[in-house]
Amino acid sequence: MYDIAIIGLGPAGATLARLLDKRFKVAAIDKKQNGAKGFHKPCGGLLATDAQKALSRFDLTLPKDVLVDPQIFAVRTLDFHTGITRHYQRFYINLDRHKFDLWLKSLIPHQVDVFDDGQVTSVERKKDGYEVCFKQGDTEHCITATYVVGADGAHSLVRKLLYPNKKIRSYVSIQQWFSESNPKPFYSCVFDPENTDCYSWSISKDGSFIFGGAYPAENCRIRFERQKEHLQQIGIRFGKVQKTEACLVLRPSKFSDFCCGFDNAFLIGEAGGFISPSSLEGISSAIITAYDLSRVLNSGTSNPNKAYRKITFGLRVKLFSKVLKSPFMYFPPLRYFVMKSGIDSIRIVS
Ligand SMILES: Cc1cc2nc3c(=O)[nH]c(=O)nc-3n(C[C@H](O)[C@H](O)[C@H](O)COP(=O)(O)OP(=O)(O)OC[C@H]3O[C@@H](n4cnc5c(N)ncnc54)[C@H](O)[C@@H]3O)c2cc1C
Repeated sequence: MYDIAIIGLGPAGATLARLLDKRFKVAAIDKKQNGAKGFHKPCGGLLATDAQKALSRFDLTLPKDVLVDPQIFAVRTLDFHTGITRHYQRFYINLDRHKFDLWLKSLIPHQVDVFDDGQVTSVERKKDGYEVCFKQGDTEHCITATYVVGADGAHSLVRKLLYPNKKIRSYVSIQQWFSESNPKPFYSCVFDPENTDCYSWSISKDGSFIFGGAYPAENCRIRFERQKEHLQQIGIRFGKVQKTEACLVLRPSKFSDFCCGFDNAFLIGEAGGFISPSSLEGISSAIITAYDLSRVLNSGTSNPNKAYRKITFGLRVKLFSKVLKSPFMYFPPLRYFVMKSGIDSIRIVS
């Protein structure tokens, strides 16, 4: 019997496991393995300023080993609809996402029982809490816990099982890694309303060139391939394919899409819908919601669900305000106006 069971040790779950008070008996289950093998979260691995700020709060310093080459200061933004290209200054840290996750996991204190390579298969409400069953290799384990925390990302089993009515807009995100064959490394951001009403990106990382995008599920692979062809026509080079990865990415569109949980169950990070609907940046919200929940649980309040909803209200409003602001990025005539005007853009001198 545990006090708290955390499902998923991405940035959200690993941060919560690190910050919970020593007095709790905590189980933390994650399907990742501890080395290079096994599940890797498909991600651009760019640590945005909001995420840097969230980390700075803990006085943590990022190990060099987690960084990749090169660090880039501008994003080339391409609008296929109008043919306009602009560059915008951005302050991302270019990371190896898997190493970043393992580093956050390595900070979890030893009193937490971490179950690596553990795939949670069921979460059920019982009289005194929750029963969580998971597979580790061929062995099945079941534990019980007073509180359960879904930190299991976009495809959250916890959200699906406990709150089946809390559906949220999602896209299929496809990323392909190529050997780098462009003359210079760069980041890009692509708007192409013919293929997606979200956006696509490219990132140079340690000698690889990554192209990815978020697409409506229907014909997602065809849309992805069409975009690649279009980019090739305008001179972007794709070397030898190294790997292809795909997963869901959430894109909240209504205030009710954020789900904090009920009845001593909680959702943090992307499982709760905490991701920017405009940029799909989710690492900062994962860290912030984990910190918020740790404060609530550590305080011993009698109604932690109510307290967690209250403490995350500001973040929910902030993320929802991005839905309201996103027409400037996603409505072609407004985007044309912003890009044509050159507001905020930089001129590249080569
Ligand atoms: C292609 C792509 C690119 C992205 N690029 C960026 C970016 O550059 N910067 C950024 O800030 N955000 C980016 N995001 C969003 C970001 O990756 C997520 O929002 C962020 O990782 C959410 O963190 P999390 O801890 O909530 O969930 P996750 O990072 O998804 O972690 C969930 C964890 O749960 C575990 N898990 C899931 N299901 C189970 C189960 N059944 N049993 C056991 N364990 C389980 C997984 O192993 C995983 O470790 C991107 C998303 C995608 C899809």
